[in-house]
Formats: sequence, structure tokens, C-alpha cells
Amino acid sequence: MKLFKSIPQEEQLMLIAEAVPAMIWACGIDKKRNFFNKTWLIFTGRSLKEELKEHWVENIHPDDVKRYIKRYSDAFDCRKKFKIEFRLRKFNGEYRWIFDHGVPHYTAEGKFLGFVGSCIDIQEMKEADDRKDEFISAASHELKSPVTIMKAYVQMLREVAVATQQGKSGHYLAKVEEQINKLIKLINNLLDLTKIQTNTLQLDKDTFKFKDLIDEIEESHASISSHRLEVQGDSDFVVFSDKDRLAQVLYNLIDNAKKYSPHADKILVDISCDGRDARIRITDYGIGISSEDQLMIFKRFYRGTNANKKSFPGLGIGLFLSMQIIREHNGTLQVESEYGKGSTFILTLPVH
Ligand code: ADP
Repeated sequence: MKLFKSIPQEEQLMLIAEAVPAMIWACGIDKKRNFFNKTWLIFTGRSLKEELKEHWVENIHPDDVKRYIKRYSDAFDCRKKFKIEFRLRKFNGEYRWIFDHGVPHYTAEGKFLGFVGSCIDIQEMKEADDRKDEFISAASHELKSPVTIMKAYVQMLREVAVATQQGKSGHYLAKVEEQINKLIKLINNLLDLTKIQTNTLQLDKDTFKFKDLIDEIEESHASISSHRLEVQGDSDFVVFSDKDRLAQVLYNLIDNAKKYSPHADKILVDISCDGRDARIRITDYGIGISSEDQLMIFKRFYRGTNANKKSFPGLGIGLFLSMQIIREHNGTLQVESEYGKGSTFILTLPVH
């Protein structure tokens, strides 16, 4: 396609690269940068000559430079596109967050020519994100104590109602307590999110029989559930983990399996162990997850396209938290799913 018929294609591309508001760079097959557009040079306040002498690296924040070079080199060596966020120094000395998207480019015959990258300033977005995190942290802290106190009073009222046989009051108060428990779970998830952001999520690891945890889950599930929990396989092994955190992950996966399979009545939990790793597969027969969503659902606040807000309420943090907890245990968490047929979440955990 020719935009300006009178000039050669290369010049046309140059014109476009110079006109766009994004910062553009390019490198050749030797990995060395050989082009920076005007927007880049205005941002860094350096001349093209200076930047080409590999000085551009000096503008990357010292805490980000190693990570940037590694990502760039790895992507370059495998000829794969890459995305990275890093801080870059502006001409006035201020560091700003930049989003860089690099892609390999080739001739029409398929010969590799190098990479082209486009960068945008995401500083404002980052600051808004930080403010949102601060708000979530403050709000969840403020909510926690009144809700906990409410729960204690409701429990007392319920005991009095039951003891004095006040008709259906005890039953209604039990319903209120159920809703308060849901609120507490939500607040705790938000607090955990803050702990992960600030690297303060602490695990209290100990050795315990995995079977004990599975028995507890089966027992608590039996009393309240719309779905039958079918547990199969061998859970007779010992793990060195934070039992409460592991329970949190398993409850979350089972709750999701329930929530996202409203027309099914069964959830399958299959447990196996090869002596090194335990593998727990949680299968539901529900709405399933598209392959695009499967790549995204472990991200913070991501809600799948299958999760219609009315039918499937949620905040999109359960899987993110589960993934972080499992990583802290040196385990893995993956998903296999067929859209419309159901999903299996597979958790692996080193055994003791
Ligand atoms: P939430 O359920 O609050 O949205 P999660 O982090 O637990 O948050 O899940 C993220 C997304 O993953 C959900 O919005 C949904 O799209 C998808 N998902 C999770 N578990 C299942 C499941 N068992 N079946 C179908 N989709 C699921």
C-alpha cells in the first residue's frame, strides 16, 4: 500500500515513524539499536548520535535495566515479540513508567531484519493504579472491624433466639450470619491482595497429612452444597505447607467450580502423587472457559467473558490470589477447559 505515491516506501515508513506520538526504536540483526524517532529523542533530550552509541540504556532506571535487557535479549534470541513495563529517564531527570512493545520484523521473503519497538508513557495510568490499590487497602481495613463486630452480635442474638425459642428469628439470624461470612471472605481477599502487592503475605508452613485437609473440605462441603463433591485417588501423603492458605485455594477452586456450573450437580476432585509432586485436579461440568480467557484468568481483577456480571458475580481476584499462594509453595496452577463443556483446574504441590 502506498500512502504518498511520489516517495519510496522506506521514506514513507520513516515519515510515519517520525509523526506518531509513540516513541519508536529499531534494531538490526546485531541486536544493536539503529533508530530512534523524534518523539523518543524529545523525551530523553538526547541526540540520535548519542542514543545510537548505546547510551539509551543509561536512561533506564537502575532497578529496571537488568530486567529490561534480559527480556529484550531473550525475545530477540527467540525472535518473539515482547511486552515490558520499565522506567525511563526524561530530559529533565524525571523517571516515567513506559510500556514497550517490541516485534521482530522480516523481509517479504522471510529474512529476519531485527526488531521494531513502540513505547508509550503510562505514568498517569500507573499512578491511578497505585491510588486504586491504596483505596482498596484502606477500605478493606476500615470495613474489617465493624463487620467482625456485627458478626459477634448476630451470633449472640442467634443464641438468645434459639434459647428462648423466638419463632423463626434464629433461622433468619443464621441467614444474616451467612451473608456476613461472605462479606468477611471478600474483605479478607482484598486484604490478601494488599499483602501480595506489598510482599507481606506470610506463610505459616508445617508438615501435615494432606488427607486431613481433604476430609475437612469434604465435611464442610457436605453440609451446604448444591453440588456433590466426588473425591477420588490417593491423598495419603504428607506436605509441608500453610494448611489454611492451601485450604483457601482449594475452597476457592471448588467455589468457582460450583458457581460456574449452575446446571451440573457434580464436582470431581482427583488426587494423585508420584512421590515428588502431588497433583490435584478439580473438574466441573459447567460453562467452560475460552482459550483466550484461559491465558488471562490468573491476572488480577480479570473476569472472563463467560462471567456475566448478573449471573456470576465476582471481583476477579480469587484465581490471582490462588496462583500467588501456590507459587509461594513452589507449586503450579493451570487450567484445561473446553468452552461450554467444563473446566479442570490442576494444582501441583511438592510433597514432603
Ligand atoms: P471471579 O470468579 O470473582 O470472577 P476468579 O479470579 O475466581 O474471579 O476467576 C476469574 C475468572 O475465571 C472468572 O471471572 C471466570 O471467567 C473464570 N473462571 C474461574 N473459574 C472458572 C470455572 N470453574 N469455570 C468457568 N470459568 C471460570
